[in-house]
Amino acid sequence: MSGYQARLNAIAAINSYKPLSEPLSFATIKPTDLFGSNVFNDKVMRAMLPRDVYKSLHKTIEKGEKLDPSIAGPVAAAMKEWAVSKGATHYCHVFFPLTGLTAEKHDSFLTPDGKGGAIAEFEGKLLVQGEPDASSFPSGGLRATFEARGYTAWDVTSPAYILENPNGTFLCIPTAFVSWTGEALDKKTPLLRSGQALNKQARRVLALFGKDTGERVNSYAGPEQEYFLVDRNFYFARPDLLLCGRTLFGAKSAKGQEFEDHYFGAIPRRVLAFMLEVEHELYKLGVPVKTRHNEVAPGQFEIAPIYETSNLATDHNQMVMTTLKSVAKRYGMACLLHEKPFAGINGSGKHLNYSIGNATLGSLFDPGDTPHENAQFLVFCAAAIRAVHKYGALLRSVVATAGNDHRLGANEAPPAIMSIYLGEQLADIFEQIKTGSCKSCKTKGLLEVGVDSLPPLPMDAGDRNRTSPFAFTGNRFEFRAVGSNMSIAGPQVALNTMMAESLDFIATRLEKATKGDPSKLNAAVQKLLKEIINEHGSIIFNGDGYADAWQKEAKKRGLPNFKTSVEALPVITSPEVVTLFTTYGVLSERELHSRQEIYLEQYAKTVMTEATLCAKMAKTQIFPTGVRYQKELAETCANMKIAGIEPVTSALEDVTAKLRGLQKAVADLEKLIAKHDFKSLLDECKHRCEKVLPAMLEVRAYADALEGVVADDLWALPSYQEMLFIK
Ligand code: ADP
Ligand code: MG
Repeated sequence: MSGYQARLNAIAAINSYKPLSEPLSFATIKPTDLFGSNVFNDKVMRAMLPRDVYKSLHKTIEKGEKLDPSIAGPVAAAMKEWAVSKGATHYCHVFFPLTGLTAEKHDSFLTPDGKGGAIAEFEGKLLVQGEPDASSFPSGGLRATFEARGYTAWDVTSPAYILENPNGTFLCIPTAFVSWTGEALDKKTPLLRSGQALNKQARRVLALFGKDTGERVNSYAGPEQEYFLVDRNFYFARPDLLLCGRTLFGAKSAKGQEFEDHYFGAIPRRVLAFMLEVEHELYKLGVPVKTRHNEVAPGQFEIAPIYETSNLATDHNQMVMTTLKSVAKRYGMACLLHEKPFAGINGSGKHLNYSIGNATLGSLFDPGDTPHENAQFLVFCAAAIRAVHKYGALLRSVVATAGNDHRLGANEAPPAIMSIYLGEQLADIFEQIKTGSCKSCKTKGLLEVGVDSLPPLPMDAGDRNRTSPFAFTGNRFEFRAVGSNMSIAGPQVALNTMMAESLDFIATRLEKATKGDPSKLNAAVQKLLKEIINEHGSIIFNGDGYADAWQKEAKKRGLPNFKTSVEALPVITSPEVVTLFTTYGVLSERELHSRQEIYLEQYAKTVMTEATLCAKMAKTQIFPTGVRYQKELAETCANMKIAGIEPVTSALEDVTAKLRGLQKAVADLEKLIAKHDFKSLLDECKHRCEKVLPAMLEVRAYADALEGVVADDLWALPSYQEMLFIK
């Protein structure tokens, strides 16, 4: 079968496609009944657990109190009973290794009873701790293979749930994953630690305002997940999508996203059917998905949940990613979570809406509508400004992956320079605090009477700015540099810890200044805000982040601009970052080094895989196609000559030149791929970034040029046009 025939077959299959899934009906099963039906949630626990056990567990979950280990037995028994009643045969500890993926190891409930039969059993100790053979997960030197023990430890704050398969179900228990020395091998452990640090420092500040209710202060996250859908027939015909998640080749389609006709457009029927089933699955798992729409690029979509506490939002986002991928298959599609599946059109991000607060106080980034709330709000807002200014480089480094590098700074996503967008009004208020001078009567009133008397701020403080990496959006910040394929744990670990450090600084200063006398608070706040804004105000930028002028201006302001992961990743072990994380007990120096090593390794491996495949596709698919076309042209020229007609050879010459160019580019790339005598891992990454990636682009340039001239019926790879527009 020729490549072209494969493409035609794919299109025929799409035209005759019938969904594999039974049709769903939200009329017979109401979403309200469905929601959380597969979750061992509060309602189930209250009904199934002995009263004292339930109370104790509830305290740990809601208040963050220490877990009483004696409750594990009864909780495990209830969990098993519930799971078995839902058809579960196995349980599994779900964990989140540093690959950013979700890992699970299944064990049967079945235990021989010693009399030739078997019983279903699940003891407390199996719930509390598991020991997967974890030697194949990256540890970045935290574990030698001979001491490969890794433990999974029950995370009570994220509820257990049931996953379904047509042939059975199993119980999933979210866990933290640590080495036998207690070092974090995963994304969850530091997230939980950072939440504790944030809670402690935020409460100190709240206490100064008389607002510490004894309730835990949490961070909240609402991740907006972008993704692409392509038909699976095309997906399988593209080795690059299959192995790398992105296209390494592909000439631009004559039509891209320039018409802006896809964004918020009517959702195609098959895609909507897919979305409904995704939501159906996620409702069962208690994931509060809320919004769905077409995104800017053709074939691009978004799903967003209602925000939840960090830990839950993170686990749920992992479930969203897994569900998107698995359900897409049932609709004959592949879901691409890569940050840049297609060159020349928008990539995918994951806007992380971030706030801190609790049920009683709401978001501490909410200006509120009384002056007193405003003062407290300004303090928390100033803490964020100071944090992003001090640790902007860290914030950049926690979104550094090979995939995200294609997106950051590419005039569709925020630039790689970290800055804060406050909106005009809020920026103006901070400007006044800074100068202390008054521009108008009204502002004079504000500053002389004190922060206390600032007017109520409207919820939507100013316009939206899509070019800012860290934008204030009324009652939260939206961190837009996160990649679509990434775990949101890392960015939140950084944000929580940076905020904890800033709030610690603020609390310490205010405690000293007021010495327990609340009447001194106002003046102390005024003074401190002024100081913070003078020192850190240069992080505020309300202009166009895509403009060249900003690059220059940011440089003048001394803001770091790490264009690639290779520049950004070393920040993870810089002295300031080590001090930050160790001071608040979030990550030890060893844990930081291990993370840096793993992320660098992932970078090197990703580029290496892409480069190897790039050379292979160029040699085995693109070059042969070009040569066949060259042969056709050459034969035509020769035949014309025989017939006595002078042939026009320009097309032949053109294809020949492009083929020669391709050959040379591939040879150059292969030389660069073969290099392996590196002084260090960082050195290797630099080589991949600075030499290999550009060499791949060179190969691509010739290949894409060939796609533009070779007869379409010879071309093997599905085109951009087909992949993006056939739905
Ligand atoms: P937009 O695309 O306009 O930014 P979306 O509705 O797509 O908005 O997504 C906004 C996300 O922000 C949702 O997940 C929402 O639940 C979340 N969000 C709203 N308020 C907060 C908050 N206080 N803290 C964290 N996330 C929030
Ligand atoms: Mg948004």
